[in-house]
Amino acid sequence: MPTETFEFQVEARQLLQLMIHSVYSNKDVFLRELVSNASDALDKLRLEKLRDDALDAEVSDLHIEIDVDKEARTLTVRDNGIGMSYEEVGKLIGTIANSGTATFLKDLKEAQDEAGAEGLIGQFGVGFYSGFMAADEMTLVTRRAGETQGTRWTSRGEATYTLETVDDAPQGTSVTLHLKPADPENQLHDYTSPWKIREIVKRYSDFITWPIRMVPEADASADGDSTPEPETLNSMKALWARSRSEVSDDEYHELYKHISHDWREPLETIRLQAEGTFEYQSLLFIPSHAPHDLFTREFKRGVQLYVKRVFIMDDCEALLPPYLRFVKGVVDAADLSLNVSREILQQDRHILMMQRRLTKKVLSTVKDFMTKDADRYATFWREFGTVLKEGLVTDSENSEAILAVASFATTHSDDEPTTLAGYVERMKDGQDDIYYLTGDSRQSIENSPHMEAFRDKGIEVLLLTDAVDEVWVDAVGEYEGKKLRSVAKGEIDLDGEKDEKADGERAKQAEDYAGLLGWMGEQLEADIKEVRLSTRLTVSPACVVSDAHDLTPALEQMYRAMGQEVPTTKRILELNPDHLLVKGLNQAYKEREDRDGLVESAELLHTLAVLAEGGQPKDPARFVKLVADRLERTL
Ligand code: ADP
Repeated sequence: MPTETFEFQVEARQLLQLMIHSVYSNKDVFLRELVSNASDALDKLRLEKLRDDALDAEVSDLHIEIDVDKEARTLTVRDNGIGMSYEEVGKLIGTIANSGTATFLKDLKEAQDEAGAEGLIGQFGVGFYSGFMAADEMTLVTRRAGETQGTRWTSRGEATYTLETVDDAPQGTSVTLHLKPADPENQLHDYTSPWKIREIVKRYSDFITWPIRMVPEADASADGDSTPEPETLNSMKALWARSRSEVSDDEYHELYKHISHDWREPLETIRLQAEGTFEYQSLLFIPSHAPHDLFTREFKRGVQLYVKRVFIMDDCEALLPPYLRFVKGVVDAADLSLNVSREILQQDRHILMMQRRLTKKVLSTVKDFMTKDADRYATFWREFGTVLKEGLVTDSENSEAILAVASFATTHSDDEPTTLAGYVERMKDGQDDIYYLTGDSRQSIENSPHMEAFRDKGIEVLLLTDAVDEVWVDAVGEYEGKKLRSVAKGEIDLDGEKDEKADGERAKQAEDYAGLLGWMGEQLEADIKEVRLSTRLTVSPACVVSDAHDLTPALEQMYRAMGQEVPTTKRILELNPDHLLVKGLNQAYKEREDRDGLVESAELLHTLAVLAEGGQPKDPARFVKLVADRLERTL
């Protein structure tokens, strides 16, 4: 087959440009990325051979090799792992499969400083392309284990790459960088220096479980036929099997980067070991930033599973519940079959026990942040609080532990969120319930008419703005015996110990308004289940509320968005008996025989209440016409 030239996919081209123009200041990390890919390729081959003994592949000396050539100024990273077929090279190296890439590129353009850009780059699998930070040309020669023909890929990192088949490629992949001239001032070191290579491998890739060998250059001055001995650069010790005191934070962080493809430091490293009948070792990492695609269907969750140091699978979902999908790491189990499948894992009793233990450990770590390190807790909750709250709905066993580490925006403070414990401490004498209101934003909630009486009486309300909040408050129901109550649901009685005077007043109002309420209920029957007098309003004339056990409009919408059929729940219209508009309406109702105009007023009042809580009028055109007519009459 002749050499063919292909164009990079648009996103890939943009990323290449970024690499070439080096938004990333530390160029050394390209070697980490290439070694990381090589290590993955060796893992994959070992696994494939394990599953299919007939695979025609050599696995007796799996390793990574780094060669430098000072004369030619090249650096080669070679592995004898799984390799890639011709099609795979085009697919894996020519395109970027990450769905979040478009968002990423947009964010990157907006990232003000270099640190921000570095962080962003780290979130996406740009590993291989990072070679172009150090090279002006890259060549990759690869042969898929079990196949006879190899493939050569070349590119100068511009718009195109070439592909051709080759006959004599060894099993695995070799990546050759044609190095740019060294420029130490810009952190572009001389990557033909064995000393530099040693240092980089030691720093970033020491834990890689395969030998990383460097073949010294043949020394022309040395006599005769002594071929130089390859030197193994890494210690190959699995970090999770070593005691904490032996391993530096930096080493843990490099493992995190290798696993997560996030180039930033994690927020926390969690080490966990279990002995006895079911032995395992585990290293979990809590990232410091939520990835862009955390809430997408494609998000790959789960930690890496090893069995006795042998890599078994990425993204092992069975080890952590979905609401901890942001946690990265390694679990190395001693007593699992190397052939274990995802399906088996999902049902395995031991795996389930591990999941419970890992879950509790992550939650107790968050609790530690909370009690010992306020900044770290704040970062954690900002990045992952929303995901964690999903656990309140799905994991009743741990919902108490999750509630204990949750915090919420509150009317008590403009910027400091509160825990539920903090809320309870501040509850007023005679207050039995924890009040909250859900909505799109803090501002819209605070302006909602439902809040009026609470504000008036200085009663604290939690301001819940995540979609999941609508769901968990119902699922959880209470905290330490105190009911969670929406200020927009049911009847609210804030007077606590009722004083008789207020009671008498109310009875009088009820009598006074009985006619209007009944009549309005009939007029608005299509939209409203009842019209009643309100105890929540101080300023607004009216508001709509849900019955205590009804779905809120937001929940209804959510279920519909998920494709479920839900009937529309009619709501309750509450009127403020002290408002002039409402008083006037009552007056008119009593005095007028012909109530046609009043019907429109009732309708308007209802629509105003819907608008006030951020809802949409059912018939905007009609609403506009009614208001315009009335305005006209006042001119
Ligand atoms: P990432 O490693 O983040 O997936 P890369 O751009 O580094 O992104 O690599 C893209 C893909 O190319 C890898 O996922 C892997 O499938 C393949 N690949 C890269 N290097 C090698 C290698 N040395 N051997 C086999 N496959 C490789």
